[in-house]
Amino acid sequence: MDTPVDLRSDTLTIPDSGMRAAIAAADVGDDVWGEDPTVALLEERVAALLGKAAAVYVPSGTMGNLTSVAAQTRPGDEVILDSESHIVQYEVGGAAAVAGVQLHVLDTGTGLPSAASVRASVREANIHHPVTRLLCVENTHNRRGGAAFTAEQIDGAAIAARESGLRVHCDGARLLNAATATATPASRLVERCDTVSLCLSKGLGAPVGSVVSGDADVIAEVRRWRKRLGGGMRQAGVIAAAGVYALDHNVERLADDHANAAVIADRLRDCDGCIVLRPDIPTNIVVLQTRDAAAQVASRATTEGVLVTRMGPNTLRCVTHLNVDRVQCEHAAGVLARAASTA
Ligand SMILES: *Cc1c(COP(=O)(O)O)cnc(C)c1O
Repeated sequence: MDTPVDLRSDTLTIPDSGMRAAIAAADVGDDVWGEDPTVALLEERVAALLGKAAAVYVPSGTMGNLTSVAAQTRPGDEVILDSESHIVQYEVGGAAAVAGVQLHVLDTGTGLPSAASVRASVREANIHHPVTRLLCVENTHNRRGGAAFTAEQIDGAAIAARESGLRVHCDGARLLNAATATATPASRLVERCDTVSLCLSKGLGAPVGSVVSGDADVIAEVRRWRKRLGGGMRQAGVIAAAGVYALDHNVERLADDHANAAVIADRLRDCDGCIVLRPDIPTNIVVLQTRDAAAQVASRATTEGVLVTRMGPNTLRCVTHLNVDRVQCEHAAGVLARAASTA
């Protein structure tokens, strides 16, 4: 294969000609003034999809999570979440630095705190304690191998949180992958979540942007935080149009990405140089535990035109997306099997 097969991330997708045409045709206005019709349309579409009353377009998933955390906490409050969460691992400590909260991390093993662990983590009222204010869940879970959680699993944690007086945020960067893999409407997955952040720039293939959904009050507060952080955008309809296009064209095909990831996982299952770590409900991510140093395996694969990312000293991650097809994934799996097994 001449063109490299790029499995480093589903953020690498390039807008196709249909999406670029939608961008070119977008109606725009000043969105900080509430006058961009395309941004408004995108927000309405996502709110409806997730069964929420309101939504706000933000520049990134990181800002979606940060504004959601900040809008629902006060400095010094505590936030319960899995130790491998994107918020803990990949957001430059923003929750601490900007929202001023203390992250109470749980090594959940699966990526989702159990109801019992949520209850056990909520601080008793005591003059010495921080106030436990928020539970964050992640669906699908990026560092836990793209694990999808069912509505019942999310409910378990969310109901326990709400009974303890906490609010619940879902980092749903890949929520539509979870909806696809569990054959559940996305709105059902987040029924008991107060805020949900959804990325348009991952498997959905838009170049930029995320949307935070919730009730009107919390979204008004998220909107204020977006402005505070410098995320108020003017004629943002030019990028929001790509998000609308993605919702129209790139949701149903997420199943193809999952099938392609399964092809890679199945091919590598009987490879002697690596172990495939697949969650109970897998999606578009395949995590490999390599016998040889992950960096070495990755660089061997690179010389054969297959790009993957190193997640740890002996861990590699492959992500399928709309710019890699079945044939490329079959080819990549063969290359990775060889790269992992070569002594
Ligand atoms: C990618 C991702 C984000 C944030 O995305 P950016 O748009 O890159 O800031 C948040 N959460 C999860 C689980 C992600 O995978």
